[in-house]
Formats: sequence, C-alpha cells, structure tokens
Amino acid sequence: MSFYKYKDYIEEGDLVLAFISRQTIKPLTVKKGEQLNTRYGHFQHDRMIGMKYGEQMGGARGYGFIYLLHPTPELWSISLPHRTQIVYTPDSSYIMQRLNVTSGTRVIEAGTGSGSFTHAFARTVGPEGRVFSYEFHEPRYLEAKKEFVEHELQNTLITHRDVCNDGFEINNIPEEFSQDGLINGDVIFLDLPAPWTAIEHLDKVISKKNRVGICCFSPCIEQVDKTIKALQDNGWINIQMTEIAGRRWEARKDMVKDLKDVVKRLKDIQSRKSQGIENRRSIKVAGEKRDFEEVDNDSEEDQLKGKGFNPFGKGTRIKEGDEIYDWRNVTKIETEIKTHTSYLTFAYFIPSDN
Ligand code: SAM
Repeated sequence: MSFYKYKDYIEEGDLVLAFISRQTIKPLTVKKGEQLNTRYGHFQHDRMIGMKYGEQMGGARGYGFIYLLHPTPELWSISLPHRTQIVYTPDSSYIMQRLNVTSGTRVIEAGTGSGSFTHAFARTVGPEGRVFSYEFHEPRYLEAKKEFVEHELQNTLITHRDVCNDGFEINNIPEEFSQDGLINGDVIFLDLPAPWTAIEHLDKVISKKNRVGICCFSPCIEQVDKTIKALQDNGWINIQMTEIAGRRWEARKDMVKDLKDVVKRLKDIQSRKSQGIENRRSIKVAGEKRDFEEVDNDSEEDQLKGKGFNPFGKGTRIKEGDEIYDWRNVTKIETEIKTHTSYLTFAYFIPSDN
C-alpha cells in the first residue's frame, strides 16, 4: 500500500482510512473475516474488498455508514497512532514550500517520532527523491521502520541513531540511497529537543553543490535562541524564525435588519404581551378555550415574504442567503489559534563550490 501511488480498488492487505466522523478517522488493514466496530455500526472487511476508494459503505443490517478513504500523508497525520508529538499539515506544508521540497529532493529528518512528517516528505520527494530519517528511541525506530515497509515508502531510509552525539553519517549506504557513497542532503528538518547540538554534524552529510535549506522545529523561544547561535557558528545564513498561526476563517451572510423591522418587532412583542394577558383573563373568566384572533400588523409584502412579523428569529427558521431577505457578506475569524505547536527556524547553507 503506497502513499505516493494511487489505486482505485481495495484489495485484501490494503490500508484503508475509515472516515467515521470529522473527528474520527480510523486506519485499518483489510483482512478477510475481520470487522470494524463503531458506535455508528459494524463494517465487515470482506465487503470492503473490491469496493472503490472514496466510496460510502453502509453498515451491517443497514445501520450507519463510513467512507473508505485512500491513505494520504494529510489524512495519515490526523489518524495515525501517536507515539510522540507530531508535525501537522499546516506546519509541514509551509515548511515544504518554504524549503522548496520537490520531486527528487534529498531530505534529512531527525527525529522520526511517529513518522507523520516522514510520510509527507516521502510523498513529496517521490520515487526520484530520498528521505533519511533518524530516531534514537529503539521501540519508536522499530515501529516506524515496520510502518515504512508496510506503507511502501521505498524512498525512505530510517536509521537508529542519536544524531546529537553520533551525527548523521551512514556507513555502507544502500546503493539506491547513495550518491557517490554520500547522503548529500538538500533539505534538513530537525524536530529534536536540542537541535543546536546536531547542527555541527550536518556539514558531512549535506550537498556540496546545491544550496541547502534547514528548518528547526522548537516549541520554546529559548530553544530558538540556542539554535540560531549554532546555525550562525556553523556558517548558515538568512536565518529567520516563523510561527504558523492558522485560524478558521468563516465567510457568511448576515441579515440586514432595518429600523422599520425593529419597530415592528417591538410593537409585536407589545401586542403579544397584551393579547396574552387578555387571553389569560378570558380563560379565567369564561373557563373556556382560547378565543382571541392573532393581531397581524404585517404588510402584504411581509406576509408574501413569509417572514410574518419577525425577521429576526424565534419561531421562524430562516435559511441563510434566502433571496427574499436582504443580506450582506461578513467574515469572522476564530480567536483561538489552532495550529501553533512550535517556532520554525529557517536558514540556508551555500556550499563553497556553489
Ligand atoms: N516530527 C515527528 C513527527 O511528525 O511524527 C515527531 C518527532 S518527535 C517530536 C521527536 C523525536 O525525536 C522523538 O521520537 C525522539 O525519540 C527523537 N529524538 C530525540 N532526540 C534525538 C536524538 N538525539 N537523535 C535521534 N532522535 C532523537
């Protein structure tokens, strides 16, 4: 199952991302005889085989449904089993375009963590590019290695290594990964607690021909300070720190209410109040059912509009943008920042033979 090749139909052994709700996407490997159980229904793997990726699947006994999605790095990052904090798409996509990661780029990444960013790098650099990923925590390294094989990230080589102490060099680089026996990285991404201690080891593994870009991902500003100092000491230039602060931007229509409507609304409240009092009185006195007539002061035009006396709400469901009302376009942003997880420190290295 590959993250950078698409296929149409689901086969046994394939990875499917079951979209259960906006908040829940569950990765599963299709196996005959197994079943996905959710509170929205039960979904047999046998029935998934032969279905098209993207299709809706109904639950057993016609109860509930899910969508069977093809894996992508973006969906993987919101559904993967977390072994660490991860880099999400708002950051990874920005880093990728800023460092010009493209088909054929040779990336060096440390640490691998849960492999969220590794999948995005692997897909972007494609079959021509290479990703060299390093992880010093053995269980995480083994888990990621297994996952990269299962996901057919053939362009990715993971190494079990403490890069801060032992650097990035690899003895006997597999032939399909080596360039004249070297790593020759064009882009470096460091998501480590102390990236400044790894920077001095980079000169042995970066390209000697191309301009090299680096991004260090650090949650606090003291780490950024130390990283900048190490970058300067090691000859990196154009150092800039960026913070991604993505927010949801909502564009919608707001009903235009004029003074006439406001006055009418107040009059209506008043008249309903007095009718209510009268009504209660008549019930009390006569002990009989309500017998007052609705006072309707609306103009013919208003009645035609169907809005009755009150265009503002209660009792009347108004569809946003309904052509019989006046609307203006408004925008609203969320105050809460969704995406800031770290500061991104960028820099470049120009090799002397460039
Ligand atoms: N970027 C990853 C992702 O998107 O899934 C998450 C990386 S996680 C925050 C940091 C990882 O760096 C951890 O798994 C940790 O074990 C690893 N790490 C920390 N220090 C390291 C070192 N000196 N050498 C290699 N890996 C290291």
